[in-house]
Amino acid sequence: MSILRQAMKHVLAGLLPPRLLLVRGSQSAAGQPLCVSLTFDDGPHPEHTPRLLDALAEAGAQATFFVIGEKARRYPHLLRRIVQEGHELGNHTLSHAEPSQTTAEAFLREVRRTRRLLQDLVGCDTRLVRPPKGELTPAKCVGLWRMGQTIVLWNVDPRDYAMRLRMEIDRWTGQYRPAAGDIVLLHDMYPFAEFAVRELARAEPLQAVRWVSVSHWLGRPSDHTPDVEREVPRCQGVPT
Ligand SMILES: [Zn+2]
Repeated sequence: MSILRQAMKHVLAGLLPPRLLLVRGSQSAAGQPLCVSLTFDDGPHPEHTPRLLDALAEAGAQATFFVIGEKARRYPHLLRRIVQEGHELGNHTLSHAEPSQTTAEAFLREVRRTRRLLQDLVGCDTRLVRPPKGELTPAKCVGLWRMGQTIVLWNVDPRDYAMRLRMEIDRWTGQYRPAAGDIVLLHDMYPFAEFAVRELARAEPLQAVRWVSVSHWLGRPSDHTPDVEREVPRCQGVPT
């Protein structure tokens, strides 16, 4: 994401309520634990996602997985495991098509199909969308908001997708100083996300951090209480 687009997204996030566009969570109040969200895109992956889930369980962390519909269809058992272990599912479109070559109509169709697919596979609804590469147009935004979706971006990007060696992610975790409300972008289609979680859990300065799913920041009462009016539960972690 270019520096200009980074700046734009922060300006927009300052103008719009988090239920429409979430780039980072809120600051912790004095005396409150420092909360950070880990998010994992582009899975599920048959090798890396189970290992990542093991690492999250050992760390006692909750996270949010923005899954690609076509991969979710291939590995439904991994989706079930994500939900059963208290994590949250988000929608990362059906095929992860290149955003610059995808019309708003095609993009929204992929989001709708993935939402239905996730309902069919794990029996719950999703209201979080992360567009591929974080790229959007006004028409795509409006279409998502009409569907009641929250657009979730990020404010911390270790660039694990560009890494080749374990030492690169170790270097990042060694220098990362979390700030309350951080939303960290990682990918479970690569091995580095698991290493990042293990190192973050081990690092002494980070042991006071509470790792929360993205819905923690939305403050929608319906996200934190059972929704008796809906026929299907939402795919999200245990309320935090
Ligand atoms: Zn992606």
